[in-house]
Amino acid sequence: MVMREALRGRPGLWFGWSGDVAESDAGAPRTLTSGATTYVTLDLTRAEYERYYLGFSNATLWPILHYRLGLVDYDRDHYEGYLQVNARMARSLLPLLQPDDLVWVHDYHLIPFAAALRRFGVGNPIGFFLHTPFPSADVFTALPRHEELIAALGAYDLVGFQTEESRQAYLGCVGKLGSGRQAGGGRFLAGGRTCRTGVFPIGIDADAFAGAAGHAAQSMEVRRLADSVHGRSLVIGVDRLDYSKGIAQRFKAIEKLLEEHPEHRREVDYLQVTPHSRDELPHYRALRRELEASAGRINGKYAECDWSPIHYVNKGFSRQTLAAFYRLAHVGLVTPLRDGMNLVAKEFVAAQTASDPGVLVLSRFAGAARELGGALLVNPIDTSEIAGALHRALAMPREERQERWRSMIAILRDNTIEGWRDAYLAALADAGERRAQGFARMAAT
Ligand code: UDP
Repeated sequence: MVMREALRGRPGLWFGWSGDVAESDAGAPRTLTSGATTYVTLDLTRAEYERYYLGFSNATLWPILHYRLGLVDYDRDHYEGYLQVNARMARSLLPLLQPDDLVWVHDYHLIPFAAALRRFGVGNPIGFFLHTPFPSADVFTALPRHEELIAALGAYDLVGFQTEESRQAYLGCVGKLGSGRQAGGGRFLAGGRTCRTGVFPIGIDADAFAGAAGHAAQSMEVRRLADSVHGRSLVIGVDRLDYSKGIAQRFKAIEKLLEEHPEHRREVDYLQVTPHSRDELPHYRALRRELEASAGRINGKYAECDWSPIHYVNKGFSRQTLAAFYRLAHVGLVTPLRDGMNLVAKEFVAAQTASDPGVLVLSRFAGAARELGGALLVNPIDTSEIAGALHRALAMPREERQERWRSMIAILRDNTIEGWRDAYLAALADAGERRAQGFARMAAT
């Protein structure tokens, strides 16, 4: 969704997995044109889906990138599947590439994509952007064959991160492994080429999101929520069901709030919107059971016949509906244990009104915390600290809420999704040009 917004108004080709799984043969790529964008999509076979997507991408890399070594499931065969799908995708892109194309590759599923393209002789500028965090070298090097992935990243002209912390962690890994020679300014030399690094915190279209909140206000779902809250304060959390999001700790923080501050009983409704994700993976199924049990237990403990504290909803809503939900809420509760950015935090702020804004309670380990200093920042495993921040947010005077909100919305309006795209692509074009000039100089000597 966010990438669709980023492509808006700029001619380009979107290339990637269709999201469909073919039971036997993956078939030929499919093409669809919408506005200035052409979409070319590939299916995965069942075996590819299991090895590449569920296996190495989401059972191995995802937990490593989120500092969760205890949850890593590693299988050599899944890694082979990961390399094979990257090579197959690169081969399928080849006939579509034009000589002056910039290639922008997104996220941890495609780390070896540039190396595969280079093996086919592609000389275009190729950039990578990691949406997740990059962990410290101690964590990343626990991954078998991590050297290969670090070397594969060296095949890009530009590697972009959400935060400086992630970029430094990556450079630390390159240094520790001796897989590149640092060349200053976040550049390093690897395999005869210069790779640049940069920090590009992803933005949102804050004004459009605010507009969506206004438009959706009269929809059935939003009116129903407004009616059900009826004079009480609404706390909202919105996350895919994922162990990186800190939802279990959040439930405990709500319990603590009600225990330590009984005045909030019957006065606060907490809505947690959590569509299921990656349901085939055991850690996700276990978390699902844990959250169901926890919400049930806390509701059983505090609910009255006409009120219950936790509304735990496992279906997804459109971003427009969510925008209006955020506007109704007094507190946005966004407490991932680790998160590359966390767009929900930004969207919550964008949806608020200047006259009566809600308060954001935000994990200090979300990338968004680097920009949203006007939030109440918490450690997401400290349930007492979260409960304290909630208590403070629920009682915060309007002037303080407005002051905090103004500081955050100014930053969001400054860093739009188009600005993010343009900054990245300009840096990639520049990196490609410098490389070409370097080759020209070498040829002349
Ligand atoms: N989202 C949505 N419907 C839902 C739940 C989430 O459209 O029911 C959107 C949400 O508005 C945000 C994105 O999904 O734009 C989630 O991005 P985020 O960075 O917060 O987390 P991720 O899921 O990418 O880890």
